[in-house]
Amino acid sequence: MKSDFDLNQQNENTESRIAAALERIANAFKVLLWNESKELELTPIQVQILIFLLYHHESLCTVSSLAAEFGMTKATVSEVVKTLERKKLIEKEQDESDTRSFILRLTHEGKSTAKQAALFSSALHSPIKAINRQEKEIMLNGLLHIIYHLHSEGIITVQRMCYNCRFYESKEKGSKHYCRLLKKHLSVSALRLDCPEFEPAETA
Ligand code: SF4
Repeated sequence: MKSDFDLNQQNENTESRIAAALERIANAFKVLLWNESKELELTPIQVQILIFLLYHHESLCTVSSLAAEFGMTKATVSEVVKTLERKKLIEKEQDESDTRSFILRLTHEGKSTAKQAALFSSALHSPIKAINRQEKEIMLNGLLHIIYHLHSEGIITVQRMCYNCRFYESKEKGSKHYCRLLKKHLSVSALRLDCPEFEPAETA
């Protein structure tokens, strides 16, 4: 198999060019996250955890969930959490449903830092906005399929998207989408990548 980064292969093959383009976008995210982290005197993973805590339900705000979410060990996440506690950006509260576990919450200062940090990807808005609606839908659907596949292969560990949700129904050979929980058809642009109502579909 030829490498996606072999320029002869890349220039003759659309799939390889897409893979190489996604790598560039991933690098752009790293740069944007790094710049924001420097400004806030935090590390990139500290910033990612603050942003995650800002926007997710408390049931997901535990060391175990964060470890699964970011593909890290619990020991590594615990170290990050300790540093964020020392910086007074988060605090721990005993989980009433499981006395061995703690729920992580943002402090007042943590919330305001997380809100600023969460804008780190805004440089992407204007080029994405410039793409027309139909192309955006095709792009979104393609990306969701790639993510779904990477999750099925175990490369992406956690997903809360329609395609692997128990409430999702695909109709008309995949051309129509329906959510049984919201009881409505979903246009491609309404398919969710990280849904608060998500529940995993049973795997065979
Ligand atoms: S509950 Fe959320 S993730 Fe599940 S199908 Fe409905 S919109 Fe999609």
